[in-house]
Amino acid sequence: MATPLTSGQALSALRAAGLNIVEVRDWKNHNRAGHGAWGPMNGVVIHHTGDYSSQAQMVDLCYTGYSGLLCHTVIDKSGTCHMVGWGRANHAGLGDGDVLQAVIDERALPADNEANTDGNGRFYGTELINSGGGNDPWPEAQVDAAARWAAALCRAHGWSERSVIGHKEWQPGKPDPSFSMNDLRARVARYLKGGSSGGKPTPPNVPAFPGAAAFGNGKANDSILLLGQQLVPKGYGRHYRVGPSGTGASRPPEHRGLPARPGLDRLRRRRLPRPGNLALTLQLTPPLEQGAPHECVRLAAAQGGPSCGRLAHCHGPAAWNRP
Ligand SMILES: [Zn+2]
Repeated sequence: MATPLTSGQALSALRAAGLNIVEVRDWKNHNRAGHGAWGPMNGVVIHHTGDYSSQAQMVDLCYTGYSGLLCHTVIDKSGTCHMVGWGRANHAGLGDGDVLQAVIDERALPADNEANTDGNGRFYGTELINSGGGNDPWPEAQVDAAARWAAALCRAHGWSERSVIGHKEWQPGKPDPSFSMNDLRARVARYLKGGSSGGKPTPPNVPAFPGAAAFGNGKANDSILLLGQQLVPKGYGRHYRVGPSGTGASRPPEHRGLPARPGLDRLRRRRLPRPGNLALTLQLTPPLEQGAPHECVRLAAAQGGPSCGRLAHCHGPAAWNRP
């Protein structure tokens, strides 16, 4: 079956894979129709973006492109999938017809040594935000999302992991992506099999943001517990004397959910907002200056929290990212 998925079908498939989706502008109707074929579809191509000034800027560039849409989905470092278009996109360019035939046959790929076949009408494409220079890390969440993204589209078409290729395997001279495609295909295969190491994930059971009133000195509740549990992996666990814990107002303050004073002082020195807004700005890496404004920052600003616009995008509970 090689009829292109509709945007709605693709969205359903990607959501069913447990991916966090952001729909960018008019992505469902945004494409390069009129510049060549769209379909029959034969596979997916994985790219990395190369240098970028911010993740938001890169999402925008992929939507606008140098001559229109540059891919279908941009996957940022948190694994969030930004849908930027659907239909013909300018991502695969001219590649090797022998590779296309191998993808159609789902057999081992030959070396790409020709650029004689239009790939933009044959492949779905995702751009993973990464400079590609070797110094930019590949977060597990991002690579995992790429595998889920590819597996979801393969599943929808009835393809195997053999239908997943890297741009570097398609077009001579291309370096992307900078990780092993065999490793990624192995992960896609696990997801397609739906085994314990790669089945459809359990959707995160994330409560809605409880409001700033739930946080603050002396507060103890389940939201504080969740916040505390997220602070521990970030390295603040040693500031707890006991904890984290959420409830138990009868306990002494040092037994409740927020870190003891040394931890809070350290947080303040780092110019993080008051505890009431910590939940919105938990993610301290990647470095702030690499990050881009995100929904959570705007939400935080609306609630009197940080408004610098330079915070890295929030990796807190996804539901908290949305007003
Ligand atoms: Zn590429």
